[in-house]
Amino acid sequence: MEKEQDVKTVSSRQLLKQLREIMSSGIVVQEKLNQIVSVVAKEMHTDVCSFYLLQPGDILELFSTYGLKQSAVHETSLRLGEGLIGEIAVQKKALSFEDAWHHPSFVFKQETGEKPFQTLMGVPVLQGSNLLGVVAVQTEREHDYTEDEIETLETVAMLIAQILVSVAFEKQQNTLVKVHKDVRSRMEGVRLMSGMALGKAFIHSRTKRVENLISTNNEAAELSKLTNALTEMDKVLSDTLADAEISEENAEIFETYRMFTKDKGWIQKMTDYIHSGFTAEGAVQKVTDDMTERMSMITDPYLKERIHDFQDLADRLLQHLAGKDIKSKNNELTDNTILVAHSMGPAELLDYDREKIKGIILEEGSPTMHVVIVAKAMNIPVIGGVKDVVNTVVKGDTIALDGDNGYIYINPVEDILNDFKKKIDSRERIRRKYEKLKDVPCQTKDGIKVSLNLNAGLSLDMLSLGEGFADGIGLYRTELPFMSTAQLPDTQKQTEIYRRVISNAADKPVVFRTLDIGSDKVLPYVQRKPEENPAMGWRSIRITLDRRTLLRQQLRAFIRAVNGGELYVMFPMITDTDEFVQAKKTLDIELAREEEKGHILPSKIYVGTMLEVPSLIFQLDELLPLVDFLSVGTNDLSQFLFATDRSDPTVWERYDVLSAPMIRTLKHVVDLCDKHKVPCSVCGEMAGKPLEAMVLVALGFKKLSMNPASLGAIKAMILSMDTRQVIDYLNTILPVPAHSLREKLRLFALDHDIVI
Ligand code: PEP
Ligand code: MG
Repeated sequence: MEKEQDVKTVSSRQLLKQLREIMSSGIVVQEKLNQIVSVVAKEMHTDVCSFYLLQPGDILELFSTYGLKQSAVHETSLRLGEGLIGEIAVQKKALSFEDAWHHPSFVFKQETGEKPFQTLMGVPVLQGSNLLGVVAVQTEREHDYTEDEIETLETVAMLIAQILVSVAFEKQQNTLVKVHKDVRSRMEGVRLMSGMALGKAFIHSRTKRVENLISTNNEAAELSKLTNALTEMDKVLSDTLADAEISEENAEIFETYRMFTKDKGWIQKMTDYIHSGFTAEGAVQKVTDDMTERMSMITDPYLKERIHDFQDLADRLLQHLAGKDIKSKNNELTDNTILVAHSMGPAELLDYDREKIKGIILEEGSPTMHVVIVAKAMNIPVIGGVKDVVNTVVKGDTIALDGDNGYIYINPVEDILNDFKKKIDSRERIRRKYEKLKDVPCQTKDGIKVSLNLNAGLSLDMLSLGEGFADGIGLYRTELPFMSTAQLPDTQKQTEIYRRVISNAADKPVVFRTLDIGSDKVLPYVQRKPEENPAMGWRSIRITLDRRTLLRQQLRAFIRAVNGGELYVMFPMITDTDEFVQAKKTLDIELAREEEKGHILPSKIYVGTMLEVPSLIFQLDELLPLVDFLSVGTNDLSQFLFATDRSDPTVWERYDVLSAPMIRTLKHVVDLCDKHKVPCSVCGEMAGKPLEAMVLVALGFKKLSMNPASLGAIKAMILSMDTRQVIDYLNTILPVPAHSLREKLRLFALDHDIVI
């Protein structure tokens, strides 16, 4: 045993000595790598040693080999995630396979002359966390790789990495490896709205702090300055909203502004400060400071986010007081501008010329920020949580923004710039291509028809309905109008809102979801005590069943809004069958009441439930006979299934919906719905992402509901997929333990020309 250990130590020492000699020799990189693989194979007593280099396009090219056919060098390649080598590359860790040839992920490449090798052990070649390639050894005989052997190969990988990034290599072969020269120019953040953009930075800054707090004028003059500024602000805001083509009554979000501008408390506080000797500007500053301090202590995420709206307003008021033209900054914008800001209110965004704004980067930012909701409706990519970006970026810097992956490049090198240009151009081409798909029936290559629908809730969303992609509104989130007004909208106001939605949707069906408040959606007028876990707290149907009047008024408004037409009602966060029974009973009571009052009843009523809570999955046999349809809310379902807070960026991506637990759950649900002949859809974010939607359609979902921006891409994906192929592939990969199946599915889609 001791002897064996000695032999190993000597051999690895000898190996290192030989490798050092190769490293310091003046030979070209290809030759160096050829020598390395051959020395490694000999010293480690393996039949094969190969190095695969990661090439642009996520291809792993066989770059050097000992033991495989030399004619395969530079000819054979694997995609990331393909085969065992691809698996090592994706996982970025050393893996060894004892029965490699029979492993489900094994891919046979005939041109390499590969024999049925028993074993394979490989390690990634990394520069920091960047993957450069994979080095692997194989044996024909059975062999159990030891820790020492794995460590030896890891040392080899480090040396290869050193060669690859060496200056000599860059000079000789700079087309082979993309080494980003200035990694400091890359900053990461949180994806808030997808899309890519290229443009010049413009720093959105707020007015400097007011210095002259104490007035030398008389009080009356300061008061009249304040009143004039408030009037002016209100007028400019109205014009801005009108220009933005958001009809005032429909732009629920901006009601918050109206609330603030007319808020007597706010105006009174400023007036009080003026009475006590402050300038008008000083009074605004003082009240803003007080409010910001108070609001920053609020733990409720929704109300906390309103700080930005409030600061936005205070800043506008200061600008009006200074006699500044709020829109004059548009003169400084280039045609392609990337706004960089600490934070922003939604109206501040509307002050900018929409045509010129290609992207937004925020230091703060969460999906519930109003500016993010408005940017989404305007289809502008947004990245949030980019720390210190305002101090890092200088006005006029070139910014490349990837909203799909949540990072930016500041003044990127030529390579990256060209890469972005190409991607943006190709997206534009794709968008134009999607336009042409509008009238094509939405079905897979093997003839499975899929209905595409829209998730709506903000009036701007509705614009796309007319564009011909959607069969209806699969999810109308009713809470937005409730969230942005000072008091609960009464039945009449609600009826008007829903009537407008129905009329915007023309003759297409609208699925109204009853109030899903609580969690991150808070109503200012519904008193709640602080909760440790609001997502699992008093929310949604739990609130509306407890405060039955809220539910009854809303159901009444739905019935009246459809005015004799068909009504689709959906209840959110149903956790057990009894909750659904209670909710449906409430609807029946309202229907009876309306009939008694002589109001016209809907011609047909469909009552459904969302499936967002895992417990409901285990009651489907009892629940499904009672419902007319079911819609899976994958956003909440995955948060509860994986126990990961969907609003917490540090964990929300830790688990992947494209993994066995979620896929199996969804399959179980769709199968049971089929058994009970209950139409079943998905209305969570998964439905709007092509790769996820590919899986959903393969699992058997025939109705998807998504944000308008996703419709074209999802339709293109559906037209290009064959469900049978995806099902077969899913059946092979599901049983193999894996944290995520995303990469495999992505490569599968690419290999089968599925447009993802
Ligand atoms: C969901 O949970 O998937 C869903 C669609 O509802 P919301 O995102 O409004 O919670
Ligand atoms: Mg939900």
